[in-house]
Amino acid sequence: MNGKIALEEHFNLPAFATDLPQYVNPGAMKEIARRLLDLSTDRLAEMDAAGIDYSVLSLTAPGVQAVPDPRRAVALARQANDELAEVVAANPTRYGAFASLPMQDPAAAVAELERCVAELGFHGVMLNGYTNIGDAETGWYYDHERYLPFWERLEALGVPAYLHPRDPLAGNQGIYEGHPELFGAVWSFTVETSTHALRLMTSGLFDRFPGLTVILGHLGETLPFNMWRIAHRASYMGDLIKFQKPLDYYLLTNFYVTTSGNFHTQTLNATLAEMGSDRVLYSSDYPYESMREASEWFDHAAISENDRVKIGRANARRLFPGIPEKIGK
Ligand code: ZN
Repeated sequence: MNGKIALEEHFNLPAFATDLPQYVNPGAMKEIARRLLDLSTDRLAEMDAAGIDYSVLSLTAPGVQAVPDPRRAVALARQANDELAEVVAANPTRYGAFASLPMQDPAAAVAELERCVAELGFHGVMLNGYTNIGDAETGWYYDHERYLPFWERLEALGVPAYLHPRDPLAGNQGIYEGHPELFGAVWSFTVETSTHALRLMTSGLFDRFPGLTVILGHLGETLPFNMWRIAHRASYMGDLIKFQKPLDYYLLTNFYVTTSGNFHTQTLNATLAEMGSDRVLYSSDYPYESMREASEWFDHAAISENDRVKIGRANARRLFPGIPEKIGK
């Protein structure tokens, strides 16, 4: 299938390249690190071979979220967004952008969000999980009231936030003791990110800002498969309930999920059954995953052609009106 639009596609900048987490073996990581820095021939050739017309690029995780000093985070986010804007300007029919935001300084994050969307034409923001503050052991999650102005601005601008995984804080890693193989994309990312998404839902955020849109990768970080049980049991929580609707309402109303790094037809069909084909978007998660593997699976997955077109490009075209007109036609 040609004309696909992909949304969880990562790049890196030399300023961030020194401390990439080692999620896979060192040999493979070296190649991933090289591909993250490439924004020209190799990446475009991969996109062509995979039938991807347009990639929305984001600074790879944890990016700015792992910078404990707020002032440095503000400067690095601005630098990353300026450099990404140049990449997009050089290839506006192939690349779009998600902003990096210095969530360490909520007021600065709002200002940078506004600048990136209104001035630079970015399609939304990529939040790489909680943000460190002060040190590597402390993290802020985005359900806190300090972020209400951020969410309010995001809703007003009409752009989504993509909530991307990162590993849990050191203080939350006890269950993985003796099992480093369960970190990263194997499992700890999923637990961390789905829990963060549930914090947003249960905080009442989407009652306050019903027009918000959050995107989750990896076919929803297991939430579509567990949502009935979560909503069912949450309804028994009495005085602890700070939200107004059944929890599954928010998943179906305020969330989209992408196929990034989860190339399995049974899982896709379960997601479609739960969320409907209007809420699923195509992505690969390059270069942690292969664009070709993602596309070979997706292009031939046993779903209807109508759903394939919706997921591959039509839903993204609707969600991101700033994507150039000729893409995915
Ligand atoms: Zn990713």
